[in-house]
Amino acid sequence: MSWVTGLEHFVRNDEPLASRCWLRCGGPAAFFAEPATMDDLVELVKRCAAESLPVRLLGNGSNVLIKSAGLEGVTISLDAPAFGAVSVDGNSIKAGGGVALAHVITAAAGAGLAGLEQLIGIPGTVGGALHGNSGDRTTDVGDWVSQVTVLDRAGEVRTLSKEQMTFSYRSSSVDELAILDATFQLEPESNDELTRRMQKLWIVKRAKQPTGEKATACLFKDPIGMTAGETIEQAGLKTARSGGASLLDRDPNFVLLSQDASSDDVVKLLDDVREQVSQKLGVELETAIQIW
Ligand SMILES: Cc1cc2nc3c(=O)[nH]c(=O)nc-3n(C[C@H](O)[C@H](O)[C@H](O)COP(=O)(O)OP(=O)(O)OC[C@H]3O[C@@H](n4cnc5c(N)ncnc54)[C@H](O)[C@@H]3O)c2cc1C
Repeated sequence: MSWVTGLEHFVRNDEPLASRCWLRCGGPAAFFAEPATMDDLVELVKRCAAESLPVRLLGNGSNVLIKSAGLEGVTISLDAPAFGAVSVDGNSIKAGGGVALAHVITAAAGAGLAGLEQLIGIPGTVGGALHGNSGDRTTDVGDWVSQVTVLDRAGEVRTLSKEQMTFSYRSSSVDELAILDATFQLEPESNDELTRRMQKLWIVKRAKQPTGEKATACLFKDPIGMTAGETIEQAGLKTARSGGASLLDRDPNFVLLSQDASSDDVVKLLDDVREQVSQKLGVELETAIQIW
């Protein structure tokens, strides 16, 4: 009997992943699982633990670069409705780990709850946003979270209170295998005011970020005192490219891929830019995107 016996209804092998990532490149997953229920997920994780299989969680793929060789072990997606519920209770909103952050922001604004709207335009899921403490220069998702439910690598469900979590710039202590849901404590505000603010923020973000072009990703974390884009520009690297990977003119911290670009092109561009910024400015850029 194989480890996957009885789980075939939601586990597939040799699954292409490029279409699940914003960069639209990279190799397949040896096994790809889309559990429909919590029971499916727990059973899968326990079997992976028993077999010592590498296992990872893929959200909306907006902050990962998958190498051409693909991924060993099991890659899990929480796309199913069981992991996408959103509910409002007073000033708090609870959201599944697999739901789009944008959906939670819209639901919060609809309920007259402010705080998360500043994060409009971040293309990830709630789980992805909490894992990397996504945000902008004014706030990040960790500022608003009050409780998180996680599933650890042994298949045990745990609840983390605010006091049990720490968040810093693009980093969080919540590194269990799966973030199942999160509760955000927000502030009441009029719908009209919130909608007006969100529209304004959206226009500003659209002007800066490649929201329309899909094969894109953010490369580096901001170094102290400057944005990563400004740093790259100051080093004279705005036009840097490698194969089909080039930098976005209006913000060179974003990489844009042509249709024939490969993951290797992005890795090479990342390495070149980091090395040259270090040589020219003495600034060590830290990668924001995860290379798998
Ligand atoms: C156009 C564009 C604009 C962006 N703008 C911003 C921005 O303004 N601010 C910002 O901070 N980031 C930004 N990003 C980066 C990215 O969108 C965020 O990091 C996002 O939160 C990642 O979420 P995801 O669901 O896509 O995660 P993925 O890319 O799928 O995964 C990222 C990490 O999160 C983990 N993860 C995902 N889901 C879960 C889960 N349910 N449980 C546990 N771990 C999980 C993965 O294992 C992986 O380690 C931008 C990216 C793009 C392409």
